[in-house]
Amino acid sequence: MSNRAQRRSDTRAFRHQVQHGHMVTHLVDAKADLSAHPILERIVAAWRAAIPQRRPFCFGCRANFADVQPGAYLFALPPGAADIASVSVLCVECCDLPPEAIEREAVSLLRQLIPNGRFLDRR
Ligand SMILES: [Zn+2]
Repeated sequence: MSNRAQRRSDTRAFRHQVQHGHMVTHLVDAKADLSAHPILERIVAAWRAAIPQRRPFCFGCRANFADVQPGAYLFALPPGAADIASVSVLCVECCDLPPEAIEREAVSLLRQLIPNGRFLDRR
């Protein structure tokens, strides 16, 4: 299976996992040590390796990661799925945004996976 076909398959599997359910999310500093969380470490490594081909962008300001540094990773994991997660990334500049602005951008992004979703622990 080609990388693109594999990615599509992975995306379908992920969407299937979150359908009608919820996700557990973590916003993690890009400098954090993820060695105790091999799944997250693997996902970050794959994300970094794919920057030249996929040209991912910051979910806060849409800057391309070919030009800016990651500041924080937003992981979304379907509960009960041990080896599947998505990662979206915030650039170093956007990490200085007020928490409400980061949350607003994260909600907008995650609603691509769960339409009308919201954070349950929202204050
Ligand atoms: Zn940004």
